[in-house]
Amino acid sequence: MSLLSVIVPCYNEEENVVPFYEELLGHISFMADKHMDLEILYVDDGSHDRTVEEVKKLREKDERVHLISFSRNFGKEAAMYAGLENSFGDYVVFMDADLQDPPSLLQEMFACMDQGYDSVATRRVSRKGEPPIRSFFARVFYRLMKQISQTEIMDGARDYRMMTRQMADAILSMKEYNRFSKGIFGWVGFRTKWLEYENVERLRGETKWSFWKLFLYSLEGITAFSTMPLMLASVAGVLFCLLAFLMIVFIIVRKLIFGDPVSGWPSLVCIILMTSGVQFFCTGILGQYLAKTYMEVKRRPIYVLKEKM
Ligand code: UDP
Ligand code: MG
Repeated sequence: MSLLSVIVPCYNEEENVVPFYEELLGHISFMADKHMDLEILYVDDGSHDRTVEEVKKLREKDERVHLISFSRNFGKEAAMYAGLENSFGDYVVFMDADLQDPPSLLQEMFACMDQGYDSVATRRVSRKGEPPIRSFFARVFYRLMKQISQTEIMDGARDYRMMTRQMADAILSMKEYNRFSKGIFGWVGFRTKWLEYENVERLRGETKWSFWKLFLYSLEGITAFSTMPLMLASVAGVLFCLLAFLMIVFIIVRKLIFGDPVSGWPSLVCIILMTSGVQFFCTGILGQYLAKTYMEVKRRPIYVLKEKM
């Protein structure tokens, strides 16, 4: 018998715990023919509602349900890591509790794994039901990442992904504190098959990602998987030196040939403002990387466990 671990990060998902369970079970009848067992790991990411109680109730009925509970909200990335760390499956799959990751794809995923793929990932080809402004910034982010990062990060990629134990262990070996899974999946490599599907809207409750949270997360992605912004400072420095040199030549020539006196503090003020602006910007970028490095060297745990069953 081989085992499939389904990892479900949950943050205030009390109304989705049971529907998810039922929907999942409705789509895995094929696993019996493949002699496969199942374990469902609900990772409670410090929910304030009855998520934990709901999972415990499920567990009383079904031994295959497990609960990992955090001492506070550590974020979805931490929840995914904890799930991986506590799973025993030969295959592991991440799924959202809100049923935005359709369990109906599981059978197809297994078919791909049987063809020899190490991982089956999903991406949504539409962003139906999402605010247009969010879709716009998401597209900008993926286009930017393609330019500045060597790691492949797919546009519209979801965290809904099945992988072998080998790949799961590779991901576990990346113990960085600032986690950006979409990059980590790409970084570890392995043969990945991409399945596409239309966006499904959340079953109940609301998205846990505000625009601001997503913006910070995108910065996480950039600093974690590219050092290109650091180059920006050097490039800007060189450009400004060149510009300054040209200005000096221009002013000297103007003085010597045309006898024009050096004049005007407005232009001077503009130049000073502009260059100091660029300097602050570059220091800011440096600061971002320094902050990430600072958090990394502290070697704090990725999550703190409160309860496990
Ligand atoms: N989630 C989590 N911790 C968080 C935020 C979200 O574990 O801090 C979980 C959430 O419960 C859900 C999944 O991550 O199962 C995806 O979150 P959500 O549906 O809010 O994101 P969206 O689908 O809108 O991108
Ligand atoms: Mg969702």
